[in-house]
Amino acid sequence: MWIAAWNGLLDLLAPARCPGCDLVLDFGEGGFCGACAPLLERLPGPAAYVFGGPLADAIRRYKYGRRTDLVPELGALLAQAARAHVGKVDVVIAVPSHPRRVKARGFDHGVLLAEPVAKALDVPLDRARLRRVRDTPPQASLPETAREENVRGAFEATRDDARRRVLLVDDVRTTGATTKAASAALYRSGATEVRTLTLAGTQA
Ligand SMILES: [Zn+2]
Repeated sequence: MWIAAWNGLLDLLAPARCPGCDLVLDFGEGGFCGACAPLLERLPGPAAYVFGGPLADAIRRYKYGRRTDLVPELGALLAQAARAHVGKVDVVIAVPSHPRRVKARGFDHGVLLAEPVAKALDVPLDRARLRRVRDTPPQASLPETAREENVRGAFEATRDDARRRVLLVDDVRTTGATTKAASAALYRSGATEVRTLTLAGTQA
């Protein structure tokens, strides 16, 4: 118990850093720094921002550098986009990673980003309904033409007739093959509407 309190105190004392360039911010400041913030480019569609520049750096730092301290900033961007663009849904679901990858990384990067979205929309986050049943090579490592095949049959979903309108949340969207496969699993299990929201995407 006191260890958790001590870690909480250390977090308070650690200076906030810009998620984009890792620059230490002035006391009381938060978010992307003055140089990075203007470089974030909004998108109108299912991806909130253009994947590139400081945002791409921030996502890489978060996922591969295990910088979970960036979750509040990245989550806030997603929550803002959700409030602005997502209509009525019954539940938020993160595109799941395979349990083996979650274990290796030490945290579920999708779930951490989906939590603030569920809170912003005031609906539950369901962590059990959609599962990744096949561990697949990362989409980014494959040519675009192989991505759809790579995630085919990778997801399974459980029926929930009380919550048929789903918002599916992911970090990065490139071809959309992953969200398409995950959405298909949800539709097969009785969802009537699956919307998608990703933090960053390539411009269509
Ligand atoms: Zn910066």
